[in-house]
Amino acid sequence: VLNYKAIAQDAEAHARNFDIRKSLVPEDAVQSIVSLRARRVELKRQSEEAARQRKKVTDQIKKNPGDPEVKKAALEGKVLKERLVEVTAQLEDVENRLLSLALRLPNDTHPDVPVGPESAAKLLSEHGPPLTEASPQRDHVTIANALKLLDLDSGRLVTGSSWYYLVNEGALLEMALTNYAMSLAVKRGFTPVMTPDVIRADAAQRCGFQPRDPDGASQMYHIAPDNEVGTSGHADLILAGTAEIPLAGMFAGQTFKPKELPRKVVGLGHAFRAEAGAGGADTRGLYRVHQFTKLELFAVTPADESEATMEEFRSLQTEIFEGLGLTFRVLDMPTEELGASAYRKYDMEAWMPGRGKWGEISSTSNCTDYQSRRLHIRYQTNEHGLHPETKKPWTVTTSHFAHTLNGTAVAVPRLIVALLENGAVLNDAGEAVALNLPKALLPFWVNGLDRGII
Ligand code: AMP
Repeated sequence: VLNYKAIAQDAEAHARNFDIRKSLVPEDAVQSIVSLRARRVELKRQSEEAARQRKKVTDQIKKNPGDPEVKKAALEGKVLKERLVEVTAQLEDVENRLLSLALRLPNDTHPDVPVGPESAAKLLSEHGPPLTEASPQRDHVTIANALKLLDLDSGRLVTGSSWYYLVNEGALLEMALTNYAMSLAVKRGFTPVMTPDVIRADAAQRCGFQPRDPDGASQMYHIAPDNEVGTSGHADLILAGTAEIPLAGMFAGQTFKPKELPRKVVGLGHAFRAEAGAGGADTRGLYRVHQFTKLELFAVTPADESEATMEEFRSLQTEIFEGLGLTFRVLDMPTEELGASAYRKYDMEAWMPGRGKWGEISSTSNCTDYQSRRLHIRYQTNEHGLHPETKKPWTVTTSHFAHTLNGTAVAVPRLIVALLENGAVLNDAGEAVALNLPKALLPFWVNGLDRGII
């Protein structure tokens, strides 16, 4: 299923692609694929040859059982059988090595993607009101504490650092934000889904996520095998890092008719991130946490529609963030920021005056056929015409790999950071006394908690 042939045919371009993406593939990956492919062809030939000869020998034995030569032939047959078992084992080993290499390979790269590290990102558009002045008084933790919206101490006590409770209007904000964005997505034809938060590690890998960093640190929470979970027994289960994985998994193994595409879903799930290696200021408060609620857009499209669908995602996300009154920008992310699966990635960043920085609030990837090749998501097209020889009407059916896209509609904590840092009302002493709630959230607000701060 994976396109080894294309890699072998254009080894140089693929090696360059791994290089500009700073992909964590072994240095000799392309060469290994080329030689493993050649070895696979040779082993297949050897296996067919051994099987053919063995058949000849068995036929000979069957035909002339009394022949004095039979003993010799039987011996030959035994040797050939052993040879066949050996070649089959070697073939299996080659297939496994090809697959494990393939699971580490990145996608191709859109020609317009800027080459380089994060600083090479290209600004595509800017939205919302002008930037407000950076100020430590607008720090979201200080504001959340003053307004009693966040309980970090209980989070630390009950689970650990970077775990938290949203309380009072903080909890209501999560519900209003997800329902608000859900309603806009549904209006645009996305099917609402509640996803499982526990998934198989293999599903994550097929979507392009590696269970471990090269230094061995896990970015995922594994559910220990002696901790039987439901009926899944000892499957290698993890907590989902993003609803993208269970959403992609909904389409695994399916073949669509073109008129059944695009399929667009919007899933509400919890994202669990070990965030191994993350440190410093970003871990303050809600900015980088281990669990957060996320509303995720996902689509399966025909190959020639994924670029247009990416723009559709961008337009919906723009509507969501403009409705919240945020100042934000859209960036075309450079090669080193693409991860394994993305052919192209747009990040959106909101201005956060308390942090005095832009902060990423959303990320959208066009994964082209990267995930569908690994999850077997296909569509078929029919071409009608006349048979070139018989000249009778005929239909040629072709199977293609679909394209998949994913994008954040709402990552709750980052939006709360942006709303608090931009929307808090400060008194003369610079203390937060109230919060401006965006009008767009009013229809989704749970009333009755009257503490007079909204
Ligand atoms: P990603 O799937 O990594 O592209 O993340 C999607 C969005 O989730 C990002 O754009 C952020 O807004 C948000 N996000 C990612 N990691 C975290 C985290 N550890 N804590 C809070 N929000 C996060």
